[in-house]
Amino acid sequence: MGFFDKINEISKQISEVEKNIYHGKEEFLEIYERNLQLEQEIEERTKELNIANKRMLSLQNILDMMNSAKPLRSVLETVVNSIQGELGYLHSTIMRKEKDDDGFFLSVIAEADDITIRRADNILKTPIQARRLAYSENEIFYNALEKREIIQSKDVGASLKAIMPELDKSVLDEILSDKSTRSIITIPLYAFKKPFGIFAVFSSREELAKSEKDFLTMYAQQIELAITIADLFERVKEQAVTDGLTGLYNRRYFEEYLKKEVTRALRINQPFSIIGLDLDFLKKINDTYGHQFGDLAIKTIADVLKSNARSIDTAARMGGEEFNVILPGVSSNGAMIAAERIRKAIEAVEIDTIGHITASIGVATFLEHSDNIEDVMELTDQAMYMSKHNGRNQVTLAKPMDETSWQELAVSAFLDILNKRKIPLSDDFKSDLSEKLMSSAPQSEVLYSVADLLTQTYNPMHIQGNVKLKVLTAVSLAKRFDLSKSDIDNLKIALLLYDIGNLLVPQDIFKKKSPLTEDEKNQIKEHPLIAAKEILTPISYIQDVIPIVEYHHENWDGTGYPAKLSKENIPMTSQIVLIVDAFFALLEDRAYREKLTPQEAVEVIKKDAGTKWNETLVDEFVALIENEIE
Ligand code: GH3
Ligand code: MG
Repeated sequence: MGFFDKINEISKQISEVEKNIYHGKEEFLEIYERNLQLEQEIEERTKELNIANKRMLSLQNILDMMNSAKPLRSVLETVVNSIQGELGYLHSTIMRKEKDDDGFFLSVIAEADDITIRRADNILKTPIQARRLAYSENEIFYNALEKREIIQSKDVGASLKAIMPELDKSVLDEILSDKSTRSIITIPLYAFKKPFGIFAVFSSREELAKSEKDFLTMYAQQIELAITIADLFERVKEQAVTDGLTGLYNRRYFEEYLKKEVTRALRINQPFSIIGLDLDFLKKINDTYGHQFGDLAIKTIADVLKSNARSIDTAARMGGEEFNVILPGVSSNGAMIAAERIRKAIEAVEIDTIGHITASIGVATFLEHSDNIEDVMELTDQAMYMSKHNGRNQVTLAKPMDETSWQELAVSAFLDILNKRKIPLSDDFKSDLSEKLMSSAPQSEVLYSVADLLTQTYNPMHIQGNVKLKVLTAVSLAKRFDLSKSDIDNLKIALLLYDIGNLLVPQDIFKKKSPLTEDEKNQIKEHPLIAAKEILTPISYIQDVIPIVEYHHENWDGTGYPAKLSKENIPMTSQIVLIVDAFFALLEDRAYREKLTPQEAVEVIKKDAGTKWNETLVDEFVALIENEIE
């Protein structure tokens, strides 16, 4: 090789090296450039975020939060969605640290809705939001929160496994197979100086620029701010005593005040009255003129209540179009006058566009109608419905709450039946009945003794006085099981009527001393159905009693009749009738056996606990009877 060739060779090599150097420099410049761009972008975004942070505190935002049913969630969702697509972020989520009996765990409280998460949820079947996520010590989420630092993990699989250790590797691999997520950045969230949870961002990049940390910290601050504000709203809402639309007291305040008024009334033995009011035809006003005018009608009622109430009266909006006023120290006479004044004042107002509105009103008085405040509220409501029923725009005084109403119903139903069925009654029975009805004893006692007499029309073995005992026992039992007032009323009526089907069973069967034939047993088994379907159905005012009677021979284990219902499918009221009936029947003589003592009867009942009756029912029943025996 000649000299020039050598020179040529060397210069070629040099230019090769030069080329490489240049290339490397180019590459370096490119990365440098890219980072510079990223830093710039972050800087810009941070500025924007700063502005957004301030905007978050704007009045409109705060109002929106206050009006949202779930203020925290709605704000956090805005936050996670707004970071979406920034700086190559694929997905973000906010998880809250929570605690239950099994210890700490994480749960998703807000999550950006995007392809990344939809894809993962599809693979997971049970979406991440629905899972109890592990909060494992020394894993990325734990460390970020407890050590209060931003941590980036490039091992995405390990991070997912940390919160969902139950996942199979194949599932994890499938989630990660699209390789788009290159790292997870976890940012700790603190609220009220305590660890709150984690803000996790799924990034398409492996690097974490220095200013990126500042950027994410600022985002986290926005989240912390939202958490704090939402919490304050919750507390303010809890403390609110007035209703936003009308300025009247709200239900919460009303209920608290009512309790105090009850205590006061009992202490000084002075009644107080409740006026219950419901706007008439509000739906029509809304439909015809729009919701604003419906609101206007509601405000009008509130204004009338304010200007008509004495300073010591408490008017409250219970919700919707329903109002209550408490009148301390006022008897029902006074309350009726006040209510009528309110009714007239409402009717007199002329409202823009709508014209005139009216309201239906009910009045009841504590210590006059009942000394149980729940009953008084119920009676107020019933009286208000009476006003509606009778044509609206009127005031109705509650009916006194005593035993009469259900007894009257039960006895008149019974007499109705005897009449309609043309059941032959002996002259003795008739004169006995009229003598009892004319008696000057308290009405409640009269009706109980009439009831005793009536039950003897289908079972001559019934002991006088048992109906009252049965009713009292059944009611005590029903109260132990928290049955509603209307259930209890129907139960009382049922206790007089449940065996009325026996009126249509040949009476000879009941007098037989020898064991009954299969055919006779079947005839007796028909009585609940006969009562329900034939006798009680035509009597309009006791329809709610029918199911109680129809199922009062169903056994807990499904071996009863007529429908072979079991367990909770048997109405509680029917179960009570059956156990009370069985117990009192054991105390009476029968053609085929002598009567038992209460102690013996209790033992018989106990034997069938779990089969014929619900064990809990037997426990309560036995406790009740043993208490009585003592
Ligand atoms: P009635 O005379 O039997 O009371 O008839 P009504 O139309 O007043 O009563 P209904 O219970 O059928 O309908 C009540 C309506 O009141 C339905 C509900 O949308 C409306 N409503 C409840 N609260 C508000 C409210 O705050 N503002 C408005 N504008 N409407 C309300
Ligand atoms: Mg109404």
